[in-house]
Amino acid sequence: MTAVRSLIVELQSAPRAPGHFPNWLDKTLHVNLLPVYSDWQLLYALTPDGEPLSSDSDTWTTRTPLAGVERNAVLAQASTRYPSLAHLRPERSATSSLCPYCRGTGSFDVGQGDPTISPGRVICSCGGLGWVP
Ligand SMILES: [Zn+2]
Repeated sequence: MTAVRSLIVELQSAPRAPGHFPNWLDKTLHVNLLPVYSDWQLLYALTPDGEPLSSDSDTWTTRTPLAGVERNAVLAQASTRYPSLAHLRPERSATSSLCPYCRGTGSFDVGQGDPTISPGRVICSCGGLGWVP
């Protein structure tokens, strides 16, 4: 059994709090995918074999295989969020370059000095790696 498949099985059987209303994480596990993260438009997950996918539906009726920066971002976040998947973290190659958006930091400050936004950090589209393939 792959490490991803083991995590899916473990999380599917994890107890839920009384009154828990199923969310996209539960729905993703229900179709045997490992939820990784979501943004404003898409959900991201891994197949049991560790392949990154995105979908615009929490029922996962559409599944888009990912490549390039998006693929790296999902693998990087999966390796960060699930320690048993550390081996999936993409390795920088000689042809990789510094991320043009975060310039290597992997994240951005938001809401600094703006009273209408709670200060925090957001992960860059490079998945927090600070470089792009
Ligand atoms: Zn970046």
